[in-house]
Amino acid sequence: MIYRADFHIHSCLSPCASLEMSPTAIVRQARAAGLDAIALSDHNCTFNLPAFGKICERHGMPCLFGMEATSAEEAHVLCLFDELDKAMEMGERVYGSLPPIPNRLDRFGDQPIINEDEELLGFAEKFLISASAYGIGELVDQVHALGGLCIPAHIDRQVFGIIAQLGFLPDEDFDAVELTAAGDPALALHYPIVRNSDSHELGTLGTAFTEFDIEALTVDKIRSRLRETQRD
Ligand SMILES: [Zn+2]
Ligand SMILES: [Zn+2]
Repeated sequence: MIYRADFHIHSCLSPCASLEMSPTAIVRQARAAGLDAIALSDHNCTFNLPAFGKICERHGMPCLFGMEATSAEEAHVLCLFDELDKAMEMGERVYGSLPPIPNRLDRFGDQPIINEDEELLGFAEKFLISASAYGIGELVDQVHALGGLCIPAHIDRQVFGIIAQLGFLPDEDFDAVELTAAGDPALALHYPIVRNSDSHELGTLGTAFTEFDIEALTVDKIRSRLRETQRD
């Protein structure tokens, strides 16, 4: 079956995302936007993934469990898993490595943690836009050891894109690189390309997506499909 996938979506936990971004609202809007698979990828934190997983299951929406990690070089990197506990483990490591800088409510937004019934469980205390302690190579190794996909995010963007941060696209074992909807494929070099919306509000869900012709939504099947599109 063909999965039209958007794997880069922020929930209300991300301080830069709209508070309307609850897992339930995300799943409803994803359906309306014609998506068949989604991932929640909050900044440096996985605290809303358990609620997201329950809501996707309730609504029969295939999903991956993600996070957008900020590397020590301040490049954004998508970490995607098909098992919730593996994603939570990676999330603990990355969140745990963030500097002890509290969230700045005056400059950014709340970082609410919610359950599947949209009840407030608390707030992520550390400021989620900080850089983690993990370098890009360490992120790749750790995500792969936990069975996930490691994909530099929006590499064509000047802010927090890997090319803007390093000056070049490094030779790493990335499973793909992510371009924005208008991003130039030439920037991806030999790497497979995915496109996602990087939605921070409901209205942009599915404005960029990638289609995967696979039997089931698993990391292994996605990785094999991506490898087929690798260029020399
Ligand atoms: Zn980003
Ligand atoms: Zn993002």
